[in-house]
Amino acid sequence: MTTKVRTRFAPSPTGFLHIGGARTTLYNWLYARRHGGAFVLRIEDTDEVRSTEDSVTAILRSIEWLGLNWDEGPVDEKTDKGPHSPYYQMQRVAIYRKHLDQLIKEGKAYRCYCTKEELDEMRRLAQLEKRPPRYDGRCRALTDAQRAALEAQGKKFSIRFKMPQDGVTIVDDVIRGKVHFENNLQQDLVIWKTTDGPTYNFCCVIDDHLMEITHVTRGDEHLSNTPSQVQIYYALGWTPPVFAHLSMILGPDGSKLSKRHGATSVLEYRDQGYLPHTMRNYLALLGWSNSESQQLFTDADLISQFDLAGCQKSPATFDTVKLQWMNGEYIRQTPVAELIELAKPFLEKAGLLGLPGPDLKQVVALEHEKFKLLSEIPTLIEFFYKPVEFTPKADKVLQAPGAKDVLLGLVEALKDFAPFEDKALETRIRKFCEEKGLKPGQVFHPIRTAVSGRTEGPTLFLMLEIMGRDMVLARLKGAAERLK
Ligand code: GLU
Repeated sequence: MTTKVRTRFAPSPTGFLHIGGARTTLYNWLYARRHGGAFVLRIEDTDEVRSTEDSVTAILRSIEWLGLNWDEGPVDEKTDKGPHSPYYQMQRVAIYRKHLDQLIKEGKAYRCYCTKEELDEMRRLAQLEKRPPRYDGRCRALTDAQRAALEAQGKKFSIRFKMPQDGVTIVDDVIRGKVHFENNLQQDLVIWKTTDGPTYNFCCVIDDHLMEITHVTRGDEHLSNTPSQVQIYYALGWTPPVFAHLSMILGPDGSKLSKRHGATSVLEYRDQGYLPHTMRNYLALLGWSNSESQQLFTDADLISQFDLAGCQKSPATFDTVKLQWMNGEYIRQTPVAELIELAKPFLEKAGLLGLPGPDLKQVVALEHEKFKLLSEIPTLIEFFYKPVEFTPKADKVLQAPGAKDVLLGLVEALKDFAPFEDKALETRIRKFCEEKGLKPGQVFHPIRTAVSGRTEGPTLFLMLEIMGRDMVLARLKGAAERLK
């Protein structure tokens, strides 16, 4: 019988969901979907000081927006569902306690009475002697009597896991191969803090095992935690899952992607006007590619082709230019009605919804090729619905000698002209140029500027058709009046 693939994303809710976390979510989701498995979302909120409900909300909204549905995990900020509920770690403390007691009973974990000052001193000395700054194990060998005496003095303790002191721990990683860690360079990790309870490395192992996670895919900053986690699996008599540690994401200058490279939070990308599909496609390629170096993927393509083993070891570089290009491609592929639906929040914010004026579908279709971001849509189309505002360049065009006569002449020429349609309008306006002995530019520029307030924009005659006779005539007259 083959085991069903189960993957998970396990964020600590101490901030927004950043690009790295989004990629980790996506890879876990893709792998689960590819293998008909389950994708679990678990909230690692054991750091009670830094964890916030706002952050949980931001993480849930981000993953939902990305379109990556989870099969088990939170329903909202407090409740969850699935066969291994709860999926909020702070609701699982009794489970961790039980396993802690087992390790202590079996002599695999021990009480450490060292104070913060003693630990700081240990670190200082290690630095001085150029040794790795790690706990020296001084509480490992305390006798029962010594422990009793310390506790009689009111000494508080944390619990440390006993790492083997020799040999190596091998982390079998799908991306990196077998990674060897010398045990004598590892330290006895605190698995239960004096006051705050269980720590990440401990809870993570217990949950991944009890939630039957088969593949742990996460950022490579966790590779160094993995030998301790593997030893905790062994100590509890369990088999570790398959690990995959994803390479780092860098900014264009080669340093770790951060705020100073621009937006790092998923919701910022939503607010800038990226499509969820663009993000899925782009993030999939941030550390993975297929043999043809294909760029544009449907979800079905990604699901059928994505493989953890195909992920790269070397860091990936976040490239906003490519991301924007991809977004433009997907916007062009999106049918207009759907595009308007996706752009609704932006249109609403710009006050463009429900206004009288030309048909929104026709207007959006007119500029469809140009949008790279949903947020650009209002700016590029607002003149169809709002009073014309003339840019300084547009003003200059209208100030050209003869422009006013051209506009008034066009009002006459078009007021009864039919059909008021693209091709017919072009023929009529070209004829107007001939009648007046003007070059096309001397007419086309003022007319565009008068109706839109801009010197650049959609294809001219189709724009006039979509605006309709009344709007065109009113704007030609309005612009001519400004020139008095
Ligand atoms: N809570 C950890 C984090 O947010 C998860 C690490 C893991 O995936 O094991 O970094």
